[in-house]
Amino acid sequence: MTPMMRALVFAETGQPILEERPRPQLLVATDAVIKMVKSTICGTDLHILKGDIVTCTPGRILGHEGTGVVHSVGTHVRTFKAGDRVILSGITSCMACEFCRKGLTSHCLNGGWLLGNTIDGTQAEYVRVPHADGSLHHLISGASEAAQVMCSDILPTGFECGVLSGRVKPGSSVAIIGGGPVGLSVLLTAQLYSLSSLIMITRDANRLKIAASLGATHCIAFGPNAAEEVMALTGGRGVDTVVEAAGVPGTFDLCQDIVAVGGTIANVGVHGCKVDLHLDKLWHKNIVITTSLVDTVSTDMLLKLMSSGKIKADALVTHNFSFADMLDAYSTFGASTEHKAIKVIINFQE
Ligand SMILES: [Zn+2]
Repeated sequence: MTPMMRALVFAETGQPILEERPRPQLLVATDAVIKMVKSTICGTDLHILKGDIVTCTPGRILGHEGTGVVHSVGTHVRTFKAGDRVILSGITSCMACEFCRKGLTSHCLNGGWLLGNTIDGTQAEYVRVPHADGSLHHLISGASEAAQVMCSDILPTGFECGVLSGRVKPGSSVAIIGGGPVGLSVLLTAQLYSLSSLIMITRDANRLKIAASLGATHCIAFGPNAAEEVMALTGGRGVDTVVEAAGVPGTFDLCQDIVAVGGTIANVGVHGCKVDLHLDKLWHKNIVITTSLVDTVSTDMLLKLMSSGKIKADALVTHNFSFADMLDAYSTFGASTEHKAIKVIINFQE
C-alpha cells in the first residue's frame, strides 16, 4: 500500500483544503524527498487562490518555502544525504542549462518556480524536490529555523528583485511601497548598504511601526498625500530607488511620481492586472524600470549574514501554527492587517 500524507490543496472553489495524498516518491536520480519540518504561506499563494497565476491549476499542493529533513535522495544527488537538515529554495535550478549558467535560475529550462506552482509544493508532510543539488541549502547554525524559512523566498526576493535590481548603492535614498513580508525583506537587506534615507510607505499602521523598528528612517501612510510627503522629504528630488512591493496599479503610479532623475523603479509585486506607464512624465528622466523573479543566487550569502547576526529575520515571524491548523493559518494570513500578521510559520510534527 502506498504510504499517505496530509497536504494543503488549492481546491476548484478557490479555497485551500486539507487532503490525504499519496506520499511523493523519487522519480529521477537527481530528486530528493524531504520530510517537512516548517513551512509558511506566501502572498503568492493567495494570488493563486484568487486565480491570478494561471500556471497553477486546482488540485495542486501549495507552498514553495520551508525547511525539512532529507528523507531520501536519488543516486545522482551529491551534496545532500538522508537525515540532512535543509532549507528548500522556492526556485528549482538544474545548474546546467543556458539560463542557470547565466545566473537566471528563475528561468531554468528544467526548473524555475515549480514547487506549489506546476508541481506539488511544501505545504505537505513530504515533498519531492527536483534537481536537489541546485535547489536545497543546508540549514546553518546561529539563526533560528523559523528565521531560515525566510531564506526560501522572501529574503532573496527582497534583496535580488528590490535591492540589486533597484541598483541601491551607498548613499542612495530608497523608498519601499508595500510593507508586507517582501517589502520588509527589502527593508532588512537594503541596510546592507549605508543609505541616506530609507522610506517605508504602506497603508497598514502596524506595518509602519514594524518598519520603523527595523530601520526605516521615515514612515509614510499610503494615500493621496504620499507623493507630496516623499517629495517634501527629498527637497523635491524624489528617491533614487523605489521598490514596488505591493503589485497594484495605485502603488505603481506612486513609484512613477516619486522616482528621482536617474533613479530606478524596481518592481517586485505580483501584478494581477495591467498598470499605466506615464511615459509623458518620465521620458526625459533617465530612469530604469526593472522586473524580476527571484533567482535565489544570494541565498547562501544571506544565510551567512543571518548566521553572524547581521540580518535578523526573526522579526518577520509573527504567528506559529501546527500543520493540523493550516486552514486557520490561511485565514490569519489572509486577514493579515486584522491579525497583525507578517509571516506565519507552519510546524509539522517531527
Ligand atoms: Zn537550469
